Amino acid sequence: MTWREVTKNAQCLICGKGGWCGRSDDGAARCTRVSDPPAGWRLVKRNVDDGTVFRRDDELPQRSPRASGPKPAPKPAKCAKTWLTMDAVIKAAAR
Ligand SMILES: [Zn+2]
Repeated sequence: MTWREVTKNAQCLICGKGGWCGRSDDGAARCTRVSDPPAGWRLVKRNVDDGTVFRRDDELPQRSPRASGPKPAPKPAKCAKTWLTMDAVIKAAAR
């Protein structure tokens, strides 16, 4: 894993600062200021002198992010369709 130091243009994903912390090429974040994972992140490793390593909570090792978890079910549109159908029936009956 390669670490790159954060810059003002690519700030730390954890504390939002533009220096001292690091970002890895595979999406992990290493923060030298924050030791507790923020919402949506989990703690991977706490280094004594090199910051704390975090990874995104929804990121599973050796799996693509798309493969994680079932897809949310589409919202049912039956209700609206039923009403439209009934409306059409009423209109047809009124003729
Ligand atoms: Zn940081």
